Amino acid sequence: TFTLGPKIASWDTERKNWLHQNPEYPNFVRGKPRILLLTGSPPKPCDNPIGDHYLLKSIKNKIDYCRLHGIEIVYNLAHLDVELAGYWAKLPMIRRLMLSHPEVEWIWWMDSDAFFTDMVFELPMSKYDEYNLVLHGYPDLLFEQKSWIAVNTGSFLFRNCQWSLDLLDDWAPMGPKGPVREEAGKILTANLKGRPAFEADDQSALIYLLLSKKEKWMDKVFLENSFYLHGYWAGLVDRYEEMIEKYHPGLGDERWPFVTHFVGCKPCGSYGDYPVERCLSSMERAFNFADNQVLKLYGFRHRGLLSPKIKRIRNETVSPLEFVDQFDIRRHSTENT
Ligand code: UDP
Ligand code: MN
Repeated sequence: TFTLGPKIASWDTERKNWLHQNPEYPNFVRGKPRILLLTGSPPKPCDNPIGDHYLLKSIKNKIDYCRLHGIEIVYNLAHLDVELAGYWAKLPMIRRLMLSHPEVEWIWWMDSDAFFTDMVFELPMSKYDEYNLVLHGYPDLLFEQKSWIAVNTGSFLFRNCQWSLDLLDDWAPMGPKGPVREEAGKILTANLKGRPAFEADDQSALIYLLLSKKEKWMDKVFLENSFYLHGYWAGLVDRYEEMIEKYHPGLGDERWPFVTHFVGCKPCGSYGDYPVERCLSSMERAFNFADNQVLKLYGFRHRGLLSPKIKRIRNETVSPLEFVDQFDIRRHSTENT
């Protein structure tokens, strides 16, 4: 049967020893867990060339957020395991990073089609002290409805520990492309509400695993829905002007979504569930909405949410340091004080 690699059995002890022997690489820095954000895209150019431009915007958006919040970032373009191509590629990469970066406490996976849209909001990490996996999702959709969209695997966090390696091992077997993935897809469609017939995807497989082995796994899974760790784009992108009028960044929820995720759009592939034009203009709006929060630090903003052009929002000064604190969003974030 399929495995992600040699079975590792005592990672917690080994990692603990390593951390002890390498105090210059602590897993907590100034009281905060070290986080590594992982994202990526297929090894080859997009079928539709404009898709590559949106991949560029998407990585710029993530670099901005991560720089502002002291999060490290990795962009993966490779298929570490040829069997796990496509949306399954995140599994071997997450495992690899855990093993190669024992100093990292949490690996945060984020899809290429998900944008940070609240550049101020910070994850409430202390809430997750007792958990190893943080997913955006709803308990009733998961356990009552058994819905295939009960949780989303476009933006989630894994603690670097034995439990996570074990879960990855339990999650991966539906992934190998070809007959295994095809057959597994039938099981998932038969068991999950609302799921169309197609090969096994990582999200459905995780939901199925959490449902079928609830006792084994759920104790350490935090289902987050108090803010948008993942936010479905269709209900959000048309409300940005209203949000700007009424609210401010830092809220992370429906008032100012932390993440806007373009589920069902395939700007890099050739087919999706929505018209390409609607996806691209909505992505442009999400990008610019977020980019305005970054540009504001430097005294600029976009002329409109669909415009790449920017304009100045304050005059240059001969004494920039007088105002430098005022525009530094790191000083205004919630968990930072
Ligand atoms: N992905 C990757 N390599 C691939 C295909 C996908 O790293 O070969 C990543 C990419 O970040 C993408 C995510 O996996 O956003 C989920 O894949 P999916 O096909 O569901 O794409 P999406 O609908 O999220 O664009
Ligand atoms: Mn996605």
